[in-house]
Amino acid sequence: MTQEKPHQNLAIIGHVDHGKSTLVGRLMFETGSVPEHVIEQHREEAEEKGKGGFEFAYVMDNLAEERERGLTIDIAHQEFETDEYDFTIVDTPGHRDFVKNMITGASQADHAVLVVAADDGVAPQTQEHVFLARTLGIDELVVAVNKMDVVEYEETRFREVVAEVKDLLDQVRFATEDASFIPISAFEGDNVAELSDEMPWYDGRALLETLNDLPVPEPPTDAPLRLPIQDVYTISGIGTVPVGRIETGQMRAGDEVSFQPSDVGGEVKTIEMHHEEIDLAEPGDNVGFNVRGVGKDDIRRGDVCGPADDPPTVAETFQAQIVVMQHPSVITAGYTPVFHAHTAQVACTVESLDQKIDPSSGEVQEEDPDFIQAGDAAVVTVRPQKPLSIEPSEEIPELGSFAIRDMGQTVAAGRVLNVSEK
Ligand code: GDP
Repeated sequence: MTQEKPHQNLAIIGHVDHGKSTLVGRLMFETGSVPEHVIEQHREEAEEKGKGGFEFAYVMDNLAEERERGLTIDIAHQEFETDEYDFTIVDTPGHRDFVKNMITGASQADHAVLVVAADDGVAPQTQEHVFLARTLGIDELVVAVNKMDVVEYEETRFREVVAEVKDLLDQVRFATEDASFIPISAFEGDNVAELSDEMPWYDGRALLETLNDLPVPEPPTDAPLRLPIQDVYTISGIGTVPVGRIETGQMRAGDEVSFQPSDVGGEVKTIEMHHEEIDLAEPGDNVGFNVRGVGKDDIRRGDVCGPADDPPTVAETFQAQIVVMQHPSVITAGYTPVFHAHTAQVACTVESLDQKIDPSSGEVQEEDPDFIQAGDAAVVTVRPQKPLSIEPSEEIPELGSFAIRDMGQTVAAGRVLNVSEK
């Protein structure tokens, strides 16, 4: 890929089975991002099995397999490029922990494509993901009404689904005037790379063209270095090597750094990326590095590395806005689920419910509510049960959001409003 193009992190959101993975495969296929040998191999396999001309399905299988084998340091991101941008698909559509990954994943999305199947229309996860996207600060959506082939490419059905989606977007105050609604078939390829003959009534642009015309993402903040640690290795000849992805700021060999909340630090000796030593690492870089005097047992996954003179914030308590997505009963003060923020997982107590917020208007509905439940939004005060490094999302959005997990599912998501430091 050419390096000069601006980068876009794209999330693909929507209800299970509405076609997210198929769409990612289709986008990669149409932009020539699937290596030729992979296509060739599958073409042969397909022909052997008497399914010639069906390479696309085989590409899909292969992508699914690749995802399963994702490595820790090189998270298997799917990438494709258009004339204007290099796109990276963040998260793993169809993944069991998709919602959690959307928040704690390697990178935050600049924009999102909402996939809604034309036959089903708006479904529970459509709603959930739209709420989430809003809470996490995505403010522009491209809506792909998928599986148009299943509804005979009918304009009336497309209009119905668009109306349903618009209602939903209005509820969470997404600006719908500028949103693009595109009828597509990810499976057949209609209106993805090129306008389809099947839908002559559609007078908009194809999906790839729309993605190509997205606004340039906000320039990276001038936030200080923040590098959440994913793992800590011991490598012979080098020593202790923490690895992770730089979320904000830069790291140079020779910098004095601090790991929080472990509260240790030292001078960066070497930085390595893709098995090569580098002098400077920037946001988006997956790096391994070595710090003088910091041993394997001094630091752990969930620590955040930052400059020694502007170290990552460690919270005594923090206030956050959350959206409750699913919970079998009600949430009251004292609730202590596990919070997932960047690479950290820490039990935190919801110490007080401060305000209940109307998700559709953003207005305060109730001060000091006794409880909140699925579908509610609220401002809450949280006390981590173990030291946790987290930042106000206004200052460092990349380190300011979290998912709340309980009983094997994501029950809520939120972003940090302010932090009382330890
Ligand atoms: P995900 O769970 O949202 O990632 O959905 P998948 O991409 O796994 O798709 C779910 C099912 O819908 C699969 O069987 C796909 O082959 C099928 N599918 C996806 N897109 C289309 C489409 O445009 N048309 C048709 N007919 N089927 C589709």
